[in-house]
Amino acid sequence: MKIKKHLQKSLSMQFFGLMLRVVLFIIIGALVIIFSYRQLNEYHSNQNELLEQKEAIIKQIDNRFNQAFFDFRGYFAFNNESLKEDAFKQEEKIRKLLDEFKRVENNTEDHIFYENVESYLNTYYRDLIPEAITFFEQRDRDNFEALANDGGTKAVNAFKNDVQAYRNKIDDKIEANYELLVQRNSYILIFVGLYLIGIMFILFQLTRTMFKNVGKPLSDFAEVANEVASGKDADVAIITNREDELGKLSVAFKKMLTSLQEKEQDLLGQNEELIAQQDELEAQRFELEQALSNLKRSENNLRDRNEFVKGISNSLDKKNVLDEIVVNMCKITQADQGIICFLDDQSYAAYGISQTGKQQFLNNLDNGLNDKLIKYKESFTVKRELIDMEKGFHEAKSYGYDLYLPILDIENEVIAVLVLSRFGSAFPEDQMDEYNGFAKQISISLENIQMYEQSEEDRNRNQDILNTVLEGIQLVDVDGNAVQVNHMLCQIFGCTEASNRIVGMSLDNWSKEMAQFIEDEDDFLAFFKRVIHSADSEATHTYTLSNKNKIYKVYANSLYHDNEKIGTVFVHRDITKETEVDQMKSEFVSTVSHELRTPLASIYGYTELMLNRELKPEKQKKYLTTIYQETKRLTNLINDFLDVQRMESGRQTYEQKYIDLLDIVKDVVKTQKLATSIHEFQIDVETQDTTVLGDKDKLKQIFTNLINNAIKYSPDGGNISIRLYREDDHMKTSVTDEGLGIPEDALDKLFSKFYRVDNSDRRTIGGTGLGLSIVKEIALAHNGDVQVASEYGQGSSFTVTLPVVETIVNSESLSPQSDSKHAYNVYIIEDDQHLTGLLEQELRENNFYVQSFTKAAIALKQIKSVVPHAIVLDLNLEAGEMDGWEFMRELKRLDVPYSNIPIIISSALEEQDKGFQLGVTNYFVKPYRSSDLSRTLLQTLLEKEKRGQILIPDTKKDS
Ligand code: ADP
Repeated sequence: MKIKKHLQKSLSMQFFGLMLRVVLFIIIGALVIIFSYRQLNEYHSNQNELLEQKEAIIKQIDNRFNQAFFDFRGYFAFNNESLKEDAFKQEEKIRKLLDEFKRVENNTEDHIFYENVESYLNTYYRDLIPEAITFFEQRDRDNFEALANDGGTKAVNAFKNDVQAYRNKIDDKIEANYELLVQRNSYILIFVGLYLIGIMFILFQLTRTMFKNVGKPLSDFAEVANEVASGKDADVAIITNREDELGKLSVAFKKMLTSLQEKEQDLLGQNEELIAQQDELEAQRFELEQALSNLKRSENNLRDRNEFVKGISNSLDKKNVLDEIVVNMCKITQADQGIICFLDDQSYAAYGISQTGKQQFLNNLDNGLNDKLIKYKESFTVKRELIDMEKGFHEAKSYGYDLYLPILDIENEVIAVLVLSRFGSAFPEDQMDEYNGFAKQISISLENIQMYEQSEEDRNRNQDILNTVLEGIQLVDVDGNAVQVNHMLCQIFGCTEASNRIVGMSLDNWSKEMAQFIEDEDDFLAFFKRVIHSADSEATHTYTLSNKNKIYKVYANSLYHDNEKIGTVFVHRDITKETEVDQMKSEFVSTVSHELRTPLASIYGYTELMLNRELKPEKQKKYLTTIYQETKRLTNLINDFLDVQRMESGRQTYEQKYIDLLDIVKDVVKTQKLATSIHEFQIDVETQDTTVLGDKDKLKQIFTNLINNAIKYSPDGGNISIRLYREDDHMKTSVTDEGLGIPEDALDKLFSKFYRVDNSDRRTIGGTGLGLSIVKEIALAHNGDVQVASEYGQGSSFTVTLPVVETIVNSESLSPQSDSKHAYNVYIIEDDQHLTGLLEQELRENNFYVQSFTKAAIALKQIKSVVPHAIVLDLNLEAGEMDGWEFMRELKRLDVPYSNIPIIISSALEEQDKGFQLGVTNYFVKPYRSSDLSRTLLQTLLEKEKRGQILIPDTKKDS
C-alpha cells in the first residue's frame, strides 16, 4: 500500500512501474516459449535416435542370420568345413547384438521380439543345425531333406518375415514421431502469435493510460497558457485527486495565473503613469534640442577659435603667422577679404586682395580709417557700396562691410591693423566682443613672436660671442643634456657639425661621442659623470687628444639660478704649449745645471790648483789652455741659451744679404777641422750658383752646429761630407757623417728644444739639446727648412733647404736697353742733397726711374698717385718734420698695396733690429757702396716679380 502511494506521488515512478510490468511479461512469455520449444525438440530427437538404434541392431541381426544361412547352405552343398565354422561364429555375434537390443528395448513389443529371436536362435543352433549336420555327415540324405522340408526352411522364412515386420513397424514409429513433432511445433507457433498480440495489447493500453494521465492534462495546461498569452480570460481547474507533478503543476499554474492577472492590473496602472511621464519628457526633449543646437554653435565657435589659436601658435615665423591670422580670421568672421599689416616695418599678409589693393592699403596705412583706428584704438565697422568687381554678375545695388580691428601691444599702442571685408551681409553686432577677443589673442601671439625674435637675436649674438672665444665651451643642463657648444669645441673634437650633433644629446651620448677622440677615455667619462651629478661642480681634468697629440684642460663650473643649480659650464683649454714649456723648463734646469757645472768645475779646479801651487810654466800654460777652452765652451753655451731665448721672444732679427753659401761652409769646415784629427772632410759643389739671401752669421751658425754634431756623434771618426746642390727652386746643403746614427723613434723630436737622445752610446757626449732647434729656427726664418735622414748605427744626414735667388752677374744686364722690364720706379727720401744726387745717379744708371723727396710727408701723399716699386728711406730727416720711423708706421697703416712696398733703410743709425721689426727689407748703414744698394734693390724686386708680388704702377715717371 505504501509503495503504491509512493508510486502515485511521482509521474516518473508511475511510468517506471508500468514499464517494469510490461518488461516482466515480455521476458516470462519469451522464456516459456523458448523452454517448451527446446523440450519438445529434445524429446522427439531422443525418440527418433532410439528407434533408429533399434532398427540398426535388427538389421545387423538379420544380416548375421542371413550370413549363417548362406554359410550352412554352402557347407551342406560343398561340404566346406570352413563355411561351417564361419556359420557357427555368427551365433556368437548374433547373441551380442541381442544383448545390445535388450539394453535399448523399452516396451513389450520389443521384448516379445527379443524373446522370439532368442528362441529361434536357440532352436536353430541347438536343435535344427546339429541335427542337420548329423544327418549330413551320416549322409542321411532323406532325413536331411525331411528335416529341411519339415520346417527348417519354413522356420527360417518365418523368422525373416518376423524380422521384416518388426523393422517396418519401427519405420512407422519413426514417421509417426516426426509427424507428432511437426504438429507440436505448429502449436508453439500459434502460442507465439497469441503472445505477440498480447504484448501489442499491453503497449496500447500503456499508451492510452499515459495519454489519459499525462498528455491530456498537459495539453489542457498549454491551451490555458496560450489563451492567457493571447490576452483572453482563462481558468485552470486544480487536479485535486493527484499527488504527482501534474497535481502540483495544476496548483502552481493556478497560482501563477492569479499572480499574472494581479500583475497585469499593476502594469496597466504603471503604463498610464508612463504615458503621462512621456508627454513630460517630450517637452523636455524639445528644450534640450534647442540647448544642443546652441551648444553646437558654441562648439563650432570654440573649434574655430582653437584652430585659429593653434594656427597662429604653430609657427614662430612672422610671415607664416600673419598668413595664418588673416586666413583664419576671414574663415571665422566669414569675411571675403582681409589684410593685416604691421605699422613699423609694414610687413603684412592679405587674403583675397589684389596687388594694387594691397599697395593702396600700404600707401595709406596712416591715413583715413586707419588713422581713426590708430587714434581711438577701438574696432569699428564701415558700410559701403560694392564696386563692380566685387558685385560679380549682380546688377542691383549692394553693400559691403569693412571691420577694422586694432592690434595692440603691452603698452596699449597699436602695432598692427587688421581689416576684414564682407560682401552683402554685415558683421553681427553680438559677435563684436568675440572679434575683439580674437584681436587680443593676435596681439599676444605677435608679442610672442617679437619676443622670440628678440631672444633668437640675443641667442645668436651669445653664440657668436662664444664662437669667438679660443677655448672650447660647452653648456649642459642638470641632467647632463648638452644645451650649447661653441665652434672651438667642435674643432677640438674634429667635427665641423658637432654643434648640431652634440646639442640635444644626453650625457651618455655626447660624452661617448667626444671620448672617442681621447686617449684616457674612462677617466674622461668618469670626470663628466662625477661633475654633472655633484652639487658643486668646480673641478678640472686634463686629457690628451689621441689624433692631434694635444693636451687640454677642462674646467667645470656650476651654473646657479636663484641658488639652484641649473647646469654646468665646461671650458676646454689647449694647454699643450704650457705643458711643453713646463717640460722644457725642467729639462732646461737639469741641462743647464749639468752643462754649466761641468766646465765650471774644471775652471774652478785648475784655477784653485794654480793659485795654491807653484807650477812650471809649461804646466801653467797647459792648465790655462784648459781653462780657456772650458770658458769658450761656457760662452758658446750661454750664447746658445741667449739665441734660443731671443728666437722664442721673437726679438731675433736677420739680415737680408746676398751671401755665398760655399764660403760659409768652407769657413766652418776650416774652423771645425782644428778640433778633430780622426775625421775626413769633403765638400762637393754640384751647382754653379751657391748664393742665398740671408744673415751670414746665422747661416754660419747652422753649419757650425751641424758639422760640430757630425764630429761629436761619430766618436770613432770617419768621413764627413758636405754636398751643395739645387733641387727645383731650392738650394740644398747636406751634412753627412758615418757616426752613431739616430734611433727612428727619436727622429721626429730631434728639432725640439732641449731634446737629447738618451742612449748609452752617447751619454758621455756633452750637449744641451739646443743645437738642432736653433738650426731649425734659423732655417725657417730664411723661408727654408732642415730635414734629417739616419740609419741607427750607420750615420746621419742633415739637409738644409734655402730658397734660391736670382743673382745679377754684372751690371750690364741692368741697362735700360737690355730689358725694359727692369725699369722699376723708386722713391728716395733723403734730406742730404749730395747723397741724394749720388744715389739718383747710381740708380738711373741701372735703369731705375727715380723720384727724390726731402720731406717724408710729401712722399707719403705722392705715393697715392704714383705707387713706387720700392723706397730708399733715411731715418733722420729734417727736424720738426716726419722722420723715417713715423713714415714707415704711417705707410704700414695704409691698405695694400701701399703697406707692402719694400723699404730699404739708408741710415747712419745702427738700429737694424728695430728696422727689421717694422718690416724693412734691407738695412744699409752709412757709409755704404751705392752699387750695393742698386744690386740689392734689383735683386729684391726681381725676387718679388718672380713670386708675383710686384706692383705694376699705372705710370712710371722719371723725376
Ligand atoms: P746636443 O748636441 O747639444 O745634444 P742637438 O740639438 O745638437 O743637441 O742634438 C740633439 C740630439 O740629436 C743629440 O743629443 C744627438 O743625440 C742627436 N744628434 C744630433 N746630430 C747628430 C748626428 N750627426 N749623429 C747622431 N746623432 C745626432
